[in-house]
Formats: sequence, structure tokens, C-alpha cells
Amino acid sequence: MKAIDVRFFNVGHGDSILLEAYDESRRTDAQYIVIDSSMTSTKSGLAHPCVDYLKSRSVKKILALVVTHLHRDHCQGIEQLLDGSFEIDTTVIPPLFSTKTKVLEEAFDKCKRDVEEALKGTDSESLRSQYRSIAWFLAYLAKNEESLMARQGPMNVLPFLQSTGATLYACLPLRRTKGTLYTHMTRGGLFCEETMQTMNDMSIALLIDFHGNRCLLTGDAPAAQWRTHRHEMRAEPSGALKCRFLKSPHHGSEHDNEPFFFDYARTPNQDEPSYCFVSGKGGAKQPHASTLKTAAANGFSPRCTNLADACFVHVPQMLSNLRRLPEEARPFVLHYGISGPNIPCQGSMILTLKEDGTHSVSSETNRPCVYS
Ligand SMILES: [Zn+2]
Ligand SMILES: [Zn+2]
Repeated sequence: MKAIDVRFFNVGHGDSILLEAYDESRRTDAQYIVIDSSMTSTKSGLAHPCVDYLKSRSVKKILALVVTHLHRDHCQGIEQLLDGSFEIDTTVIPPLFSTKTKVLEEAFDKCKRDVEEALKGTDSESLRSQYRSIAWFLAYLAKNEESLMARQGPMNVLPFLQSTGATLYACLPLRRTKGTLYTHMTRGGLFCEETMQTMNDMSIALLIDFHGNRCLLTGDAPAAQWRTHRHEMRAEPSGALKCRFLKSPHHGSEHDNEPFFFDYARTPNQDEPSYCFVSGKGGAKQPHASTLKTAAANGFSPRCTNLADACFVHVPQMLSNLRRLPEEARPFVLHYGISGPNIPCQGSMILTLKEDGTHSVSSETNRPCVYS
């Protein structure tokens, strides 16, 4: 039986996702698509769980590397994928970063200077490594122009995994989203505050349809992009994305996870379990308590990657540990969106989609989110 595993690696605040398509009788022939790159701090330094996994399976060839956008929490450690350890067929990037544009050449020059400045200006090894990763990636784009793929528009079929019966769509970024970011990049460079603030608008989103089960990987695409997407898709018969599985946009931030988004994304007959995977760490209100509530209210059971912190942090100290509360106090705490640290959720997760239409979800803890 053919299957696709969607692996959400726990990298704290950041995205690191792997698609592994295989036939259960021949696991060695698996095909891999990597979506974003991020690392996590461990006692022995920074680790890259996705690269570690690929190496543990002796993977040499990656069908596609998708970099949703050039924020640091989506590029960190990317040099470990680009350093020759893997043969990468295609790199899918936001259209703005296609080397056919002048802006990228300018960004390279500015980036080199920015990276040098940034390296001088910080002692933080984590920050230094993130700047280095972006520099690596830009250099890789310049050298590998022939293997780059950039698509715009609400529903572009990508030529990957078709032999498995899967259809992959790039549904973001939309056309007309280049302008503001382009202006900021040409004026201020890649690392200027305005560029960083508008970068999410260019985020790629992928929709995987595997024998009728749909999983939407949203990158950091903001709510405004999904509103426009819904508008552009209004002529479609169902008018919805019809997903049972989705990655919460922008690490579960409050403003990018409005009820309309879940309503738009969901499959109309949502009787069966549906999941919202969240790659936030709990700090900076990502994920935000309201996101977990909104997802649950719209039929998506939340599943957060974080192990170290709470699913969200929004805490009067007195209620700082939900586990210590008596069972009957929990509904009250949850109703007011208060929870505390030390309530780990899932850690790394695997969503398995099978060609007979069944699915399974497993994780490091297999513990339900408090919002389940
Ligand atoms: Zn992000
Ligand atoms: Zn971002």
C-alpha cells in the first residue's frame, strides 16, 4: 500500500517538515520532499532533526526542497541540506527570489555586507548560525538557477510524487504580492526591518492531495493572503480547500488564525477527526491560546510540536501548572485561555496518509493537547 508520511519536526519556534512517500512493501524506494529547515538547541549544541532523520535512513536524493520564505526560523541549518550531503533535484522558492530578478543580485551584495555586520554585532551563536544559513541559501540560489522553481497563483500543480497518486499544489503566494517586499528589499536590503515584516506575504503554501485526503502546509502566510485566496477561488464549486489536516499558519499566531481561515480550509463534512499541527514554542504567544480554541471550535484538533514549554503561555503565576490543578478546575482554566509552562504537547509528529484513504497520527508523547 502506498503512503505518505508528513513529519513535523520539533524545532521549537520554526518549521521543519518532511514528506516521505513510499510503498509499504519497499520502504527503501522512498521519495523525499523537504519543506523549510530549522534547528533546535540540545545539551550538546544545535541539532537538525530533519537532517539527522534523512541521514539515519541513508537518504542521498531529495526530490524537492521547498523554502517557504527567507525568515530565519525557516532557513536555519539549511547549509546542512545544501553542502553536498544530498542531491537536490528542484528547489521551490517564492517568485521574488528567482535569480531572473535584479533584486536578488542586489540582495546578494547587501546580504554579504549584512551578514558580516550581523556576525560582528552578535555573540549569540544561534543568531550567527541563522545569518550564515541565509547567506548559504542565497549563494546556493545563485549557483543553481537551472534547478529553481517559482510559481504564483492560487492552485498550481507541482510535478512531484505524481506516480504515487498524490497531487501537490502551490496555492500561495498569489500574484501581485511582489510589490511591497520588492520595494523594501531594493531600498533596505534583505535584513531591514520592513523586509522582515513583509516577508510572510511571500510565503509558499502547499496543498497535498493523497487519494482524497488533503493536508495544507501554510508556511507563515498571513490571514490577508488567505482572504485573497478565498476570493480568487470563489468560482470553484465548493469554495473551500477541503482539508482534514493543516499546519496552522505562522506558528499559531492569533491574527493569522482567524475563524474564517479554518472555515475556509475545512472539508465540508467534517465528522471524522481533523488535525491542526502547530509549530510554535509557546513564547511570543505563538501559538496563541485563541488559535488553539478557534481550531478546536472549527473541528481541528490541535497538535503542537513543543515539548519544553506549554502549548501557549499566558499565565497568572497562581495557575502556572495545569497538571497540578484538580480535574474539575481545568474547564475554567481552558475557558479563560490560561495555561502554564511545563505542559509539554507532542514533540515531533508524523501524519501518515494511506492510499486507501485512512490516516494515522503519532508523536513523541502521544499525549493529547489540552485543547483536544
Ligand atoms: Zn516562521
Ligand atoms: Zn516568517
